[in-house]
Amino acid sequence: MSADPLHRAGTPQRSTTSPPQSGSKASAIEVRRSARRRRTVSAYREGDRTVVLIPARMSEAEEQRWVNVMLDKLAAQESKQVLGDAELAERAEQLSAQYLDARARPSSVRWVTNQNTRWGSCTPAEGSIRLSHRLQGMPEYVVDYVLLHELAHLLVPGHGPRFWRLLDPYPRTERAKGYLEGVVAAERLPHVPGARGE
Ligand SMILES: [Zn+2]
Repeated sequence: MSADPLHRAGTPQRSTTSPPQSGSKASAIEVRRSARRRRTVSAYREGDRTVVLIPARMSEAEEQRWVNVMLDKLAAQESKQVLGDAELAERAEQLSAQYLDARARPSSVRWVTNQNTRWGSCTPAEGSIRLSHRLQGMPEYVVDYVLLHELAHLLVPGHGPRFWRLLDPYPRTERAKGYLEGVVAAERLPHVPGARGE
């Protein structure tokens, strides 16, 4: 699958609601509203809970959005330790077992640095999967999604209904796609000095 338009907003698919948490560490989320806070949002871990500080006047919808953003940010910081190729292969095996009845059996899974416009690719004839190094440091569920996506391509080429049905059981497909689209969109934004989203 060399012309694999992975993650371009393509085929609409049934969306599965994903739990409002990110990574295995986010067990409890506590949102604290502060009247002194005007625009900034911040978050930190406190034991096994995650505290998100938001301005008092923020709407429920905004709160939900920001909680997700901050959880992703924390998860990304925490997943800085990068999986090696061996661990990546192991991860692929787990995902295949969990979501694809272990039917996808890649012969190799590895990181590549020459892939800047695609997050992942695979060659079904060889059973090889390549993931862009740009995924390193992103939340685990995002890397898992791309890996699972490529594993599914070992079974079904293209992005038809049969393909997406394979990904249906993975609860964070929509969220992972949103995350990756956000990364692409953010790269196109001009860098405004002083506009750091804390
Ligand atoms: Zn694809």
